[in-house]
Amino acid sequence: MKIIVTAGPTREALDPVRFLSNRSSGKMGYALAHAAARRGHKVTLISGPVALTPPAKATFISITTAAEMFSAVKHRLPRNDALIMAAAVADWRPSRFSPRKLKKTNKPWRLRLEPTPDILMSLRPRKGRWIFIGFAAETDHLLKKARAKLVAKGLDLIVANNVSQRGSGFEVNTNRVTLIARDGRVQALPLMAKTEVAARILDWLEARFAR
Ligand code: C5P
Repeated sequence: MKIIVTAGPTREALDPVRFLSNRSSGKMGYALAHAAARRGHKVTLISGPVALTPPAKATFISITTAAEMFSAVKHRLPRNDALIMAAAVADWRPSRFSPRKLKKTNKPWRLRLEPTPDILMSLRPRKGRWIFIGFAAETDHLLKKARAKLVAKGLDLIVANNVSQRGSGFEVNTNRVTLIARDGRVQALPLMAKTEVAARILDWLEARFAR
């Protein structure tokens, strides 16, 4: 199978030295990319800035912003079978980028933000034969919100991730997730290493692809 995996955060610049981002370490996405490559799949890893090593055999594309990630995914998708969006794409970006470093002042000021493109949502109308897997990182009403995202983004599988529990979500090596498929099947997994979570997601993907 040919698989695109996105991983890590995106950074949305305010000026040459400041940006808006999030706590994603990229560990879940990189675990998926390594596991998929080890299983012999052709992997394209599209990654935001993280401190991890991509699989030697993967095609590696390094991006910074949500717009760059969108363009890389769109460009590569036609040559692939599946897209796993493990990246924590920044939801907002500063409306204006200042090419000069903004001067510090003592007064409060308002920063205007605009939404970044939603990659999965934008690709949905052209989805066709591709298999889409998304992640939902939530602090509350996990399954309800994840199901709503599965439907809204036209996904085949969503990995629901409670990020308010210890040992689960951002920065750590373990994760506790529930896999929710479009056909309604639900698999609640116990707390396990992200490498093990990656294996379970790939088991699902391979079975779905073989159908
Ligand atoms: O809506 P939310 O950001 O919670 O959705 C999470 C899923 O959507 C993840 O799979 C993420 O990679 C993807 N996403 C996206 N484009 C965005 C934001 C999130 O494709 N701008």
